[in-house]
Amino acid sequence: MTKKVVKKEEETYLFKRENGLPTLSESKEKKMNAFCEEYKAFLDHGKTERECVREAIRLAEKAGFVPFEADKKYAPGDKVYVSNRGKALVLAVIGEEGCRNGVAIAAAHIDSPRLDLKPIPLYESNDMAFLKTHYYGGIKKYQWTAIPLTMHGTVVCKDGRVVNLCVGEKEGDEQFCVTDLLPHLSQEQSAKTLGKAIEAENMNILCGSSPISGEKGEEMYKQKVMQILHDRYGICEEDLMSAEIEFVPAFHAVDIGFDRSMIGSYGHDDRVCAYPALQALLHSKTPRRTAIVVLADKEEIGSVGNTGLDSQFLNYFVEDLADAEGLKARHVLSKSQCLSADVTAAFDPSYASAYDVQNACLINRGVGVMKYTGARGKSGSSEASAEFTAKVRQLFDDNDVQWQMGELGRVDLGGGGTVALYVAGLNVDVIDIGVPVLSMHAPFEVVSKYDVYMTYKACKAFFAD
Ligand SMILES: [Zn+2]
Repeated sequence: MTKKVVKKEEETYLFKRENGLPTLSESKEKKMNAFCEEYKAFLDHGKTERECVREAIRLAEKAGFVPFEADKKYAPGDKVYVSNRGKALVLAVIGEEGCRNGVAIAAAHIDSPRLDLKPIPLYESNDMAFLKTHYYGGIKKYQWTAIPLTMHGTVVCKDGRVVNLCVGEKEGDEQFCVTDLLPHLSQEQSAKTLGKAIEAENMNILCGSSPISGEKGEEMYKQKVMQILHDRYGICEEDLMSAEIEFVPAFHAVDIGFDRSMIGSYGHDDRVCAYPALQALLHSKTPRRTAIVVLADKEEIGSVGNTGLDSQFLNYFVEDLADAEGLKARHVLSKSQCLSADVTAAFDPSYASAYDVQNACLINRGVGVMKYTGARGKSGSSEASAEFTAKVRQLFDDNDVQWQMGELGRVDLGGGGTVALYVAGLNVDVIDIGVPVLSMHAPFEVVSKYDVYMTYKACKAFFAD
């Protein structure tokens, strides 16, 4: 870590944080940029949790990972993965010591805020066809109008046929949008508070404006949309009821700034931690302790459901590993450690009053470490112990990982949580680490390349410990 000090005496007493870019060597900068180019490709290929799982499996299999078999004995260096319903993924590299001295877990999530479709979404009104949405995760609704959207998802028909959809991502594909009112007629809308100006029930996706041709009758606009979907995918309106369809921003990941030091994209939260954690595991040599990466679903709505980390799927996986070594899972978990790899807020000088700058993370100062998250009086947080926090500080310093410590923002202004408390609930030592993000949860979020790379190095050091 680069802690520049002016006087020698100060080194002993004061903690100094600095932008890491000026001290970055040319060779490291090259590595950082190459890593971030691959990350940008991952973002463009993984805009939903299912797509991230598919992409992660593709990368893992290329690196020698194979599907895990619960009744099989594994040797140090073996690489395995388990997909949980195609929406969450656990990957592991078996360590020299197996799991008898605990396992090292990096847990990140791969779901992001978005617009889901309601079960019966399609309707027409005044010569236009629309799809009703139900937003997913914490969004500022006004940010999701008047931007291009693409459609991603999975439709399962009654006969079990599975149709994967992805419309709008390829050059020349059609795209979609939620409309907004023109400023000329927005006097009433502008008088409303920001949270009320756009109503959830008005977030309807414009998806057509031509009626079915050669026929007269009811709902011709709606029928035209269904005709296209049927011709293309063989699905009917009823099939949409058993579908998971997500509309996400059409933007692709791009460099931000004249110096190209940042990346703008949809879905950094939390693929910006999921990808470094995954790559750290794929690149890790046979570790001492078994190393595990969990890419979880449903974090944005509280880690609920069987693909979220409040489910037992991580616990079951560790139990299988423990059983194979003749150990008890509870003994393994109690000795285990976890980096809850999730984003934090980057200090934004345009909204300075929302932060305590002394305890905020700034971009380009390395991976953010958060001892706790939560809201108000640390409600809903899993606070890392002094012992584990100290160990992580030492580990990062020893491995040239620049890190910074921060809170999300001003106390009592709001708050947030991560998967930390669910892993801690298994009696694992957990600490939150991750990339500081500007415009978090917006359709277009910004991170610094340096912080992405430091998060990768942090996970790598953790697995190698
Ligand atoms: Zn989030």
